[in-house]
Amino acid sequence: MAAFWQSVRCRKIFEADKVIDATDQIAMPGLVNTHTHIPMSLFRNYADDLPFWPWLLEKIKPAEDHLSAEHVYWGAKLGILELIQSGVTCFSDMYFYMGEAAKVVEESGIKACLSGVLLEVSDLGPTFMKAAVDFHDSWHGKAGGRIKVFFGPHSMYLCGPEYLRETTEEALKRKTRIHIHLSESRQEVADSLENMGNLRFSIWRI
Ligand SMILES: [Zn+2]
Repeated sequence: MAAFWQSVRCRKIFEADKVIDATDQIAMPGLVNTHTHIPMSLFRNYADDLPFWPWLLEKIKPAEDHLSAEHVYWGAKLGILELIQSGVTCFSDMYFYMGEAAKVVEESGIKACLSGVLLEVSDLGPTFMKAAVDFHDSWHGKAGGRIKVFFGPHSMYLCGPEYLRETTEEALKRKTRIHIHLSESRQEVADSLENMGNLRFSIWRI
């Protein structure tokens, strides 16, 4: 945008190649969505009348166990289309198969900070860590610099202290950032206060 004035004044100063009638519209910087799970657009409205924990553990988690890379690609395609339609030009996402979401970011022209999710469940912590490191090293700075890759430990309740320290070290080594859920529900806040006496943010000081 070169200037912002009343159209009469603009026409005196500039000769435009193209005039857009933006009556009743607004010109503004793009919106930034700082927390998404874009491929989950496929689960929209599924069990969303349940409280957080039954929704996550009894409904979403079993459904996610059946997700394939192809599901993530098409879910990301739908979600990113909706972001662009609503004026979002950059988003920060954490999920599985993030290489697929990265492909859609590259194709679409949007900017994104993408994190491969890290979970310390069923002895899969090291597997998730390797995938997150590989994803970073493959996609950070790609799509003409539109993609930044962060590390995405899911939460304090699905990642233990040592795993979080290891994640922080990997992120620091690569001079990148962390994307995590903190105090997402009242239950998580209450559990943190009961078990640790605080909200455990201090764990990030290594
Ligand atoms: Zn989330």
